[in-house]
Amino acid sequence: MLIKSWNVVRFKSFESAAKPQIIRMEIEKNITSLLEGLPSTVELVAVSKTKSNEEILEAYNAGQRKFGENKIQDMTRKYEILPKDIQWHMIGHVQSNKVKYMAPYVSLIQGVDSLKLLKEINKQAQKNNRIIDCLLQIHIAKEESKFGLSVRESQQAIKIAKELPHLRIKGLMGMATFTDDQKQIEREFAGLKSLYDQLIQQKIPLEVLSMGMSGDFLIAIEQGSNMIRVGSKIFGPRNY
Ligand SMILES: *Cc1c(COP(=O)(O)O)cnc(C)c1O
Repeated sequence: MLIKSWNVVRFKSFESAAKPQIIRMEIEKNITSLLEGLPSTVELVAVSKTKSNEEILEAYNAGQRKFGENKIQDMTRKYEILPKDIQWHMIGHVQSNKVKYMAPYVSLIQGVDSLKLLKEINKQAQKNNRIIDCLLQIHIAKEESKFGLSVRESQQAIKIAKELPHLRIKGLMGMATFTDDQKQIEREFAGLKSLYDQLIQQKIPLEVLSMGMSGDFLIAIEQGSNMIRVGSKIFGPRNY
């Protein structure tokens, strides 16, 4: 009886191990060829939203350590299971009442899009005895639907953040309009880069300019991005 059930278990695990093998080769290959084309000044965040622990591990085994998620619950579940040297980036819209779940471990909150959120992040960071790095998400796209602060609000946010010792604004993040018009994407990224440069001129110590996704990261890099967030070009299309 014992031997029999052991055999079944063994057979099953063999079967489920066979499939990811194929995925691994693709994910590894995608990461390697992506990194080969990147200037050394540009950091890659692998956007793993909706992707399984196995798929993330394949990217991890290719050397990738920064991963982006857009739902706090999903990210926390993955954080708990996956290797602890992964740096988790929250790239989605953040609800204030959920900050507490990621405050113990999140590496960079890229989607800070309200002034209220700053205070909550500071409060939860304090409870965890840490300083949490954040990027201000700036609204650069034409679409109404995209979250983000205006230029004016970003100035206010920086002022407010100066009084919040458990939070550090490390840079800016933006998403361009989803369009085929390359010139428009270029203009939007150039606008964000110019705000970034202005703030640095005002002695605000920013280091990160996060712009560019699978479809537009080449334009973003040309316009001065030093962090790209790439999902489908690494992991394939997402099934929601
Ligand atoms: C999903 C997402 C990405 C990655 O999108 P891809 O087109 O799959 O590369 C990047 N940034 C943000 C904020 C996202 O939500």
